[in-house]
Order: sequence, then structure tokens, then C-alpha cells
Amino acid sequence: MSVALPTSVDEVVDLLVRNPSATLLAGGTDLMVEVNLHGRRPTDVVALNRVAELRTWSVDSSRRTVTIGSGVPYAEMETGELARLLPALAEAARTVGSPQIRAAGTLGGNLGTCSPAGDGLPVLAALEASIDVVGPNGSRQVHFADFMVGVKRNSLRPSEFVRSVTFPLNDGWQGYAKVGTRNAMVIATASVCLVRTNDHVAVALGAVGPTIIRANGAEAWLAANHRMSSPPSNDTLAEFGRLVREASRPIDDHRSTAAYRRHAVGVLAQRLLTRSYS
Ligand SMILES: Cc1cc2nc3c(=O)[nH]c(=O)nc-3n(C[C@H](O)[C@H](O)[C@H](O)COP(=O)(O)OP(=O)(O)OC[C@H]3O[C@@H](n4cnc5c(N)ncnc54)[C@H](O)[C@@H]3O)c2cc1C
Repeated sequence: MSVALPTSVDEVVDLLVRNPSATLLAGGTDLMVEVNLHGRRPTDVVALNRVAELRTWSVDSSRRTVTIGSGVPYAEMETGELARLLPALAEAARTVGSPQIRAAGTLGGNLGTCSPAGDGLPVLAALEASIDVVGPNGSRQVHFADFMVGVKRNSLRPSEFVRSVTFPLNDGWQGYAKVGTRNAMVIATASVCLVRTNDHVAVALGAVGPTIIRANGAEAWLAANHRMSSPPSNDTLAEFGRLVREASRPIDDHRSTAAYRRHAVGVLAQRLLTRSYS
């Protein structure tokens, strides 16, 4: 196995152009599981951890955005200024694996793997983040909705990789919740990110479909039938939960049943909406 250790984004692009089948390594928390447990044998690895640009984040006050490098570990999102700016991302980051996994794992890796159970992904969907993809033809911005195209499938083209993710800042409320087969160190069996602004609620569902699902029907119903300035009534919560469940497309698998997952996203979404007024 050859391992390249580039120190700049341009070098990474050069390496991927020369060898489009090279394997990127960020924190390694997904890739090394593939290698150690599932027999994956990459021959050419491009390690990203020495590319300083990928490990930084910044705020653009005039555009009201935060841009997080694809190599920033979850540990940096859990607390501090990033957590204050993006509380839902912080909540999601805190649920990822263990402290060791959060010290190494990155959003770039979550996007590279693109599992419907990835904890970062519902947050990107609900906040309508845009992904800065770099490749031989320069860079392009891809909305998260166009990035994830199936179970563990993304729309990256050959020799492209994720440089950063940009989140719009808003003054509303945002939160993330997940359930799994135990309370910690667990992959989600169902997850929800909810963002509430003055006139809209965005709801993104994880682990209940081949991609992250926006509950568009529930969002539109709430916007038309609920005054955002006051807490929802029990009837409103019930209908909202029903519409969220209706948006899900879960399957039975080794982690859970479709019926439980469908029920769980409805409950999580109702709890988050209630919590957004407390
Ligand atoms: C014990 C354990 C617990 C876990 N718990 C959770 C959990 O609770 N929630 C959760 O969401 N995940 C969990 N994971 C999975 C993993 O930690 C996350 O998916 C993490 O975000 C992967 O990031 P990484 O930097 O380690 O990626 P890597 O393993 O380095 O890479 C993953 C994939 O992405 C590709 N890649 C890496 N960087 C880029 C880039 N910049 N552009 C394009 N492709 C790229 C790699 O080639 C590879 O295919 C867990 C893993 C383990 C081992």
C-alpha cells in the first residue's frame, strides 16, 4: 500500500487526478473498519490530516455563514464557538461514537461514507448546507440535497473531494435527536434535525430511507396551520408527528424494524418541536 501525505488542497487534487481510484483517508473511523473488518484493501491512500486548510473553520459575518473544513473533527464542534453558532451540529457531534471517535472523525468522512445513519447529515439537510467540492476543474458548490444520492452513494465525480461545508446562520432554534439500540456509542436507528425560524420549520430525517429525507409535507402543513410564535397545541403536534411519519421510508434491518423507525421519527420530531418553545 502506498500512502501519500499531501499538505495542500492543490496537492490532493494532483494526486487524485493522477490516480482517480486512490482512497482518501481523513479520521479513518469508517475506512479502517472497512479495512480491518470487511476486507477492503486500498492500494493507494491519500491521507488528508496534514492539509491544514481542511482542519480550519471560519465565519463570514456579511454573508452570515460558517464554513467548516472537511477535516475538522467532531470534538471541535461539540463545544465552544462552533457549538454556539450551530447548536444542532454540536448536538449531533456529541452523539457520534466515543470521545476517541469524535477526536478523529470528520464531516468530510461522514459525507464520503454517506450512510443514511450518519449523524452529521440530517443537520446539513435541515440547515440547507452547501458542500464545497474540489476537483480537476476547480471547485463547485453542491447543495446537500443534491449531494447524497442513495445509500452510501454521493454525487462526487472522479478525482473530486469535499473541501468544506458552509452552513447559513439563522436566529432561530435548532436541535438534533437520535435513538439507537443503546444510549451511547450507537449508530442511529432513527434521527431528526429540526430548525425553527420565525416563519418556517425544517425537518430532516436520518436512518429512515436511502437518503436523508426532508419532511416537506409536515413542514408545509405547519407553515400553513400553525402560528410559529406560540407553542403547538396537542392536535397540532399529533398531525405534525403523523406527517413526519408519513414522510419516512424505513426498512427492517439488523438494527431495528421499519415500524419502530417510523414511530420513532414522529416522536423525535414532536419532542424537538416542543423543545424549541421551552
Ligand atoms: C466505534 C465507532 C462508532 C461510530 N459511531 C458513529 C456515530 O455515532 N455516528 C456517525 O455518524 N458515525 C459513527 N461512526 C462512523 C464514523 O465515525 C463517521 O462516519 C465519521 O464521520 C467518519 O469520518 P472519518 O474522518 O473518520 O472518515 P474516514 O474513515 O477517513 O473516511 C470515510 C470515507 O469518506 C471518504 N472521505 C474522507 N474524507 C473525505 C473528503 N474530504 N472528501 C470525500 N471523501 C472523503 C474516505 O475515502 C472514506 O471512503 C462510528 C465509527 C466507529 C468506528
